[in-house]
Amino acid sequence: MSEIEREAMEYDVVIVGAGPAGLSAAIRLKQLDSDLDVVVLEKGSEVGAHILSGAVLDPCGLDALIPDWKAKGAPLNTPVKEDNFYMLGEAGEIRIPNFPMPPLMNNHGNYIVSMGNVCRWMAEQAEELGVEIFPGMACSELVYGENGEVKGVVAGVFGLEEDGSYGPNTEPGMELHGKYVFLSEGVRGSLSKEVIAKYNLQDGKEPQKFGVGMKEIWEIDPAKHNLGEVTHTMGWPLGKNAGGGSFIYHLENNQVYVGFVVHLNYKNPHLFPYMEFQRFKHHPMVAELLKGGKRVAYGARAISEGGYQSMPKMVAPGVALLGCSVGMVNVPRIKGNHNAMLSGIHAAEAAFVAIKNGQSGDELDGYEALVRTGPIAKDLKKVRNVKPIWSKWGLTASLMLGGLDMWTNTLGFSLFGTVKHGKSDAEATEEASKHKPIDYPKPDGKLSFDRLTNVSFSMTNHEESQPCHLRLADDSVPVAVNLPKFAEPAQRYCPAGVYEVVEEEGKDPRFVVNFQNCVHCKTCDIKDPSQNITWVTPQGGDGPNYPNM
Ligand SMILES: Cc1cc2nc3c(=O)[nH]c(=O)nc-3n(C[C@H](O)[C@H](O)[C@H](O)COP(=O)(O)OP(=O)(O)OC[C@H]3O[C@@H](n4cnc5c(N)ncnc54)[C@H](O)[C@@H]3O)c2cc1C
Repeated sequence: MSEIEREAMEYDVVIVGAGPAGLSAAIRLKQLDSDLDVVVLEKGSEVGAHILSGAVLDPCGLDALIPDWKAKGAPLNTPVKEDNFYMLGEAGEIRIPNFPMPPLMNNHGNYIVSMGNVCRWMAEQAEELGVEIFPGMACSELVYGENGEVKGVVAGVFGLEEDGSYGPNTEPGMELHGKYVFLSEGVRGSLSKEVIAKYNLQDGKEPQKFGVGMKEIWEIDPAKHNLGEVTHTMGWPLGKNAGGGSFIYHLENNQVYVGFVVHLNYKNPHLFPYMEFQRFKHHPMVAELLKGGKRVAYGARAISEGGYQSMPKMVAPGVALLGCSVGMVNVPRIKGNHNAMLSGIHAAEAAFVAIKNGQSGDELDGYEALVRTGPIAKDLKKVRNVKPIWSKWGLTASLMLGGLDMWTNTLGFSLFGTVKHGKSDAEATEEASKHKPIDYPKPDGKLSFDRLTNVSFSMTNHEESQPCHLRLADDSVPVAVNLPKFAEPAQRYCPAGVYEVVEEEGKDPRFVVNFQNCVHCKTCDIKDPSQNITWVTPQGGDGPNYPNM
């Protein structure tokens, strides 16, 4: 595609992705120097359309970025007032008291927010400072300079033919060049993946680890609603099959965020994360809360879980990775938005100094140093062993040893050093013959729903005549390898029902990719045991249209 003629626009900093990381970087750059030319490109139809984390927000990132956010009307309206942890069994639950929890697990001072709305508000602040924000503009390619540095991106390609070629209705998009390009695409970003591979940024680090998070918004009976209540659960229904757990956050308007995360290093390819989520809602404690209510939205997104030891090198010539493009989620706290914001601030500060020195296209070492020595590293280092201990020795060990380790780390030491994650999530998948299929109850249409019905509540839309953005390196692998070996787990790990194996009498099985359903969670790119699926960005504006997730 390099022979395509495109217009080019020059900026100081080009930012890919209008999540908390990208928007924080844009705001800080303009706070430091209002003359800097800064552009933010977002693939969602509007800022917030692809933001899923309806969230408990630790405001430390926002405090550092916009200290008077309250006066400026930031949508942080619901302080957390109650924090509950439960261990679930099939028919009951045990409350884990708060006092043995290390202080970092306390949600006092945090807020239940719609991160989509927080990002919409941050975009307004950025635009007031003069940042150019273009939603509906997917960045589909990196542009490299003469010395191999990243010098920009291609954005805004529309109307490709189904085979990926240019046709009469194709708009070739444009090149946006910057002295520095910030990739703030969130978890498993497609351009970030290219940069990590090209510059070997993961070398010497542990593999990145992931979970898949699914979420519904429910409107519930006001009598059961408890504004500001936060509940986390572990245990049933996952049991020993996988790590993970749930969250239930009571936000405004009698709504609750009901979410479920399944760690993607599960071994049994018969596991069906979406159905685990649906089953979870039938637990008596959860069913009682939701009964009589209605589900008003659904979405899904991968979440990075590798933490401190999995963060790749974050800079390469001309480019820096921000937020969850690096993987900055504090797993036991299920929080990454504060670190995404702090990373945006750090990247902006480093770029500002470099640009003032007349530099461009080089490595922003100052940014990496700020992340690895500052508050982000401090936050992530304390909890670095919780996930690998859970993966190696199970939930009970993680509660006891992981809890102990968080306590000792709070005091400044660890008995375990740094525990390794080992295998990637794709490699963790074992052959189907070693495991029993799992029998999932049929959704009842009241508390639990089939996948396609739920996907319609994500308002997902893709122009059908474009090329499929879920690329198979080898078309034969799903049926020839994945089906006999792993019972083709794509049919189950995808929370949007994109992948099907169609088996008709007298015919060979067929692998079907319904890319129109894709909610951009990236689970397939992560979990496919043959690593045969690559998620690339479809044209801008496509994908989910989340309201206030
Ligand atoms: C289910 C779930 C629950 C969570 N709960 C919490 C919580 O309670 N509290 C908390 O603090 N954190 C939570 N997190 C983690 C949090 O979501 C992330 O840490 C945070 O979103 C990272 O911010 P980011 O800016 O790096 O990426 P994102 O928020 O993912 O933003 C990336 C943006 O870039 C855009 N983009 C990506 N690629 C391109 C491209 N090529 N071209 C143009 N645009 C692109 C995307 O559309 C998106 O808008 C949760 C995550 C999940 C999945």
